[in-house]
Amino acid sequence: MEQSRQAIYDIVDKGLEGNGLSDGDIRTLYATDPETPEAFYLMWAGRQLQRQSSNNIAEVHAQIGLNGSPCPKNCQFCSFAVCNKVRQGRLEMSKEEVVEYVQIYEEQGANALLMMVTATYRFEKLLEMGQAVREVISRDMPLLANTGDMSLEQAQQLKAAGFNGCYHAVRMGEGVTTTIPVKTRLETFKNIRAAGLSLSTCVEPVGPEHTPEELTEKTRICIESGALSAGVGKRIMIPGTLLAKYGQLNNLIAGRNIAVYRLAAGLQPRLNCAGGTDLASAMGANLAWAEVGTNPRDTEKRTEKGGRGVSIEFCKKVFRDAGWDVLQGPSPGWMLTQENAA
Ligand code: SF4
Repeated sequence: MEQSRQAIYDIVDKGLEGNGLSDGDIRTLYATDPETPEAFYLMWAGRQLQRQSSNNIAEVHAQIGLNGSPCPKNCQFCSFAVCNKVRQGRLEMSKEEVVEYVQIYEEQGANALLMMVTATYRFEKLLEMGQAVREVISRDMPLLANTGDMSLEQAQQLKAAGFNGCYHAVRMGEGVTTTIPVKTRLETFKNIRAAGLSLSTCVEPVGPEHTPEELTEKTRICIESGALSAGVGKRIMIPGTLLAKYGQLNNLIAGRNIAVYRLAAGLQPRLNCAGGTDLASAMGANLAWAEVGTNPRDTEKRTEKGGRGVSIEFCKKVFRDAGWDVLQGPSPGWMLTQENAA
């Protein structure tokens, strides 16, 4: 057997112990040719470790995109970015619509709720929406926000409004194909945790042009963030965006990346995002998002109406078909107090 092939098997075996991997090992795994026996061993191992980490339980979180204003932050992968000129007009959901959506989602069995807005959405309005939503959902239903970078004071306001956590990420190409410095994103991580909010993150959006070195760097950031959910998500290619010329990763490479993240991180966190497609879920991703409203990975005004948005039932079926049990009721672990926050 070639030395390089044996080296990959050895790294995978080390990863299976559940204690994480070094940057050098992570880089080697991200560089593994997906069309080889060792890549399939890697994917098998990622799945086994994920099953162990989560007791074979998958979760479906529900995302509501509240607005669709053109965004000057100009992330070149995003359909809202002004520079991409993909979307026309503005869209904002009323409080009544948002409240109705969350009630339906909870009834349908969402394990957590996420409210997503663009960086230009008025922060006070997000607080108002959060308060309105918190009044109608169960006390133990996690409520997360996906919004722009924020100060400690703003993070504390989110917490006081009834949010339990935030989705936030240092995206691939951050500061190069976006206008936001990495330092600003990391500062927000710190503020989120210091305010007693849980964190959900991901290595995303990954395209064919990204190197094993950058994947490794962003994986390390995710591991060190202490997030409750993390993984690797591929970029959805939106025609007309500046990054569309690079195309989109095939599902086999995306599956390999999901497995690499699991072995790289060890047994924590229990939620490995980017689930929801047959192959990703089979490879070990155990967190998927049902989506309604606006969506940066879509050009439809409402992603659930003819766009990418899928229902909670659809996500649950994909997980069951991939051999997962699906959690009933609210996702545990998001309700941090100031005292037990990292
Ligand atoms: S990803 Fe977010 S911050 Fe970047 S352009 Fe899109 S809406 Fe704005």
